Amino acid sequence: MIEAAGVSWRYGANPVIDGVGVTARPGRLLGLIGPNGSGKTTLLRLLYGALRSPTGSVSVDGDALPALSPRESARRMAVVVQETGGETALTVAEMVLLGRGPHLSTFQRTGAADHEVAARCLARVGATHLAARPFTGLSGGERQRVLIARALAQEATHLLLDEPTNHLDIRYQHEILRLVHGLGTCSVVVLHDLNLAARYCDDLVLLGDGGVVAAGTVDEVLEPKILEPVYGIGIHRVELDGQLHLLFHPTEADV
Ligand code: ADP
Repeated sequence: MIEAAGVSWRYGANPVIDGVGVTARPGRLLGLIGPNGSGKTTLLRLLYGALRSPTGSVSVDGDALPALSPRESARRMAVVVQETGGETALTVAEMVLLGRGPHLSTFQRTGAADHEVAARCLARVGATHLAARPFTGLSGGERQRVLIARALAQEATHLLLDEPTNHLDIRYQHEILRLVHGLGTCSVVVLHDLNLAARYCDDLVLLGDGGVVAAGTVDEVLEPKILEPVYGIGIHRVELDGQLHLLFHPTEADV
C-alpha cells in the first residue's frame, strides 16, 4: 500500500501539485489520469521518491518513504518511467538482469536463479526473441516492454509506471496493461487514454488544477459530468458487453 497525504510540488513559482492525498491499495491498480500538464508524472515521482515533497508524507506499507534505504525502496517499488536506458551498451537480457540488483548483496554476481527470473519476465512481455539484441537498437515499443520486464524482474511488491503504453501499438497497449492488472501487486499507472484506464484500472485519481478533482473506483470517476469540465470536451459514456467506454464529441463550443 502506498499512501500520500498533503504532498506538494512546485517548479519555480509554479505550483503543480498542491496538498494532494492518494492511496494505492494492495492488489489493486490505481490510475492517475488528467489532462496534459495536470501533474500526473510529478505526483508519480513524489510517490516513488524521485521528488521529495516539502509538505505532507508518503509511506509504503506503513513505512515513511524517506526512512527506507535505496535498496529497501527498490525491493518494494519498481518503477517504469519513460525514456530510460537511452545510451547503454547492454543487451536486452543484461538490461532485464539489472532488475535483480536489489536482491544481490554488494559484489554478489547474478546467478542461475536470477537468469531464470529475468528470462521468465522477458517471456511475460513477449520479448524473449529480443534477448541478445542491443537495447539501444530497439524500437520505442520494444524498449518499453523490456523496461517493464526489468521492473518485473525486480520482484517488488509495488509497481509504478508512467504512461507505459506510449509507443506501443494497440495490441501491446492491451497486453501490457492486462499483464500489469493481473500481477496482483499494488500498482500505480499514469495513463492518458481514459478507455484503457476504464478497462484495466480498479481505482482512479483525476488530477486538475494542481489538485485531486475526483478519486474512487473507475465507475465513480469516469462520469461525464466529472470529466467534461476537466478535459473541456463533450463525453458520452456507454456500456458494451459489461465494459465501460467513453466516446468524445467536441462541440463547436469546445474547439
Ligand atoms: P502531466 O504528467 O499531467 O502531463 P507533469 O507532472 O509532467 O504533468 O507536469 C505538470 C506541470 O509541470 C506542467 O505544466 C509542466 O510543464 C511542468 N513541469 C514538469 N516538469 C518540469 C520541470 N522539470 N521544470 C519546470 N516545469 C516542469
